[in-house]
Amino acid sequence: MTPAPSPIASPNDLEAFWMPFTANRAFKKRPRMIARADGMYYYTPEGKPIMDGTAGLWCCNAGHKRRPIIEAIQAQAEELDFAPNFQFGHPKVFAAAARIAALAPGDLDHVFFAGSGSEAADTALKIAIAYWNVLGKGSKTRLIGRERGYHGVGFGGISVGGIVSNRKFFGSLLAGSDHMPATYDREKQRFTKGEPEYGAHFADELERIVTLHDASTIAAVMIEPMSGSTGVLPPPKGYLKRLREICTKHNILLIFDEVITGFGRLGSAFAAERYDVVPDMITFAKGVTSGAVPMGGVIVRKPIFDAFMNGPDNAIELFHGYTYSGHPLAAAASLATLDIYRDEGLFERAKMLEPIWADAVMDLKEEPNVLDIRTLGLVAGIDLASRPDGVGKRGYDAMEHAFHEEGLMVRLTGDTLALTPPLIVTEDQIGEIVEKTRRVIRAVAN
Ligand code: PMP
Repeated sequence: MTPAPSPIASPNDLEAFWMPFTANRAFKKRPRMIARADGMYYYTPEGKPIMDGTAGLWCCNAGHKRRPIIEAIQAQAEELDFAPNFQFGHPKVFAAAARIAALAPGDLDHVFFAGSGSEAADTALKIAIAYWNVLGKGSKTRLIGRERGYHGVGFGGISVGGIVSNRKFFGSLLAGSDHMPATYDREKQRFTKGEPEYGAHFADELERIVTLHDASTIAAVMIEPMSGSTGVLPPPKGYLKRLREICTKHNILLIFDEVITGFGRLGSAFAAERYDVVPDMITFAKGVTSGAVPMGGVIVRKPIFDAFMNGPDNAIELFHGYTYSGHPLAAAASLATLDIYRDEGLFERAKMLEPIWADAVMDLKEEPNVLDIRTLGLVAGIDLASRPDGVGKRGYDAMEHAFHEEGLMVRLTGDTLALTPPLIVTEDQIGEIVEKTRRVIRAVAN
């Protein structure tokens, strides 16, 4: 008897998967395939090591194949695969919320879980609008973001986000959202390590927006303390404090999207701590589980939480939540991850490495086509000049060359290369990442 044809596509069939944020047709011509990972390295199916210069997607802060995280996930799967968090609860999600809140500054002490950074962003924006409603100020519905801001891909996130290509095919988006300018000025900030001296005044643009719309219509301002996805834009000195002052003055909530900057990337648990600015909400994801299981969430200040708790005792206070809000596997993974961060001092390690990293990366400034380099924490953005045949072409070639020829994973946005290694990176590995990047930049010089 002839066996029935297998309904399962062959592993070499690259057709069915529509890859996110990917040039699908180009990928299929020359796939960049990852089969396993350990520590600072990915490995291709053929076993070739690829240095992880990007902590996956800025998320694997503890590095790969971390035994305590693997064991926590395995043990949790044995004990409790899933439990609803709507009207029921399981112990680890409460523990995870308490551990995460304890890392946040000020009275940011309650955590609403989501499954990703995008869900976290939309959750925070909804909480902001609902909060003003609860206080009887239902006219405060406008949401203000920033050009070049990235808050994921939900409709709230792309409305407040400021990346043109992420917005332009998706209709009219949320009515009433507006944008402050980005904080980058190449002429005045070129080749800065850390926070640029120039640019605190960009925060004053919020005053103009308040004059235009009136504070009585504005619910919240949402920004990344350091824009990541649009090429690494560190905040100018004093900018975040000034933004906080303007928000406080006009009774507008300030939301920090710390999906990238959270969990040690800038040398502290959150950027809010580094900059000594307490926002009203912090969104997080990625590093909370070191990328091992999807998880995101919002940390809110006590007065916001309390405002919702004033209704009848058995009434649902917020009509919002996801099936996977606080999933048991994610909660278990986050607890194990936070233990690693604490026990290995990885946030402090990032802080200690920051000047070494900055010096090493800045050494690339004389390489061909390098227009600017920005560094902050364990992050670097390297702008390459675009080629005459189009924006993003040189960057794409660099990313391909890095993977195939140098065995290095870099992140690409246009012609900007972003480097964000796991926080376990050694000084030698920093040197290796920089030398590989140097060869890549030279290889795509023409
Ligand atoms: N906010 C920021 C600042 C991000 O960098 C990202 C992802 N890179 C997101 C939100 C969205 O997270 P996710 O992809 O998990 O939805």
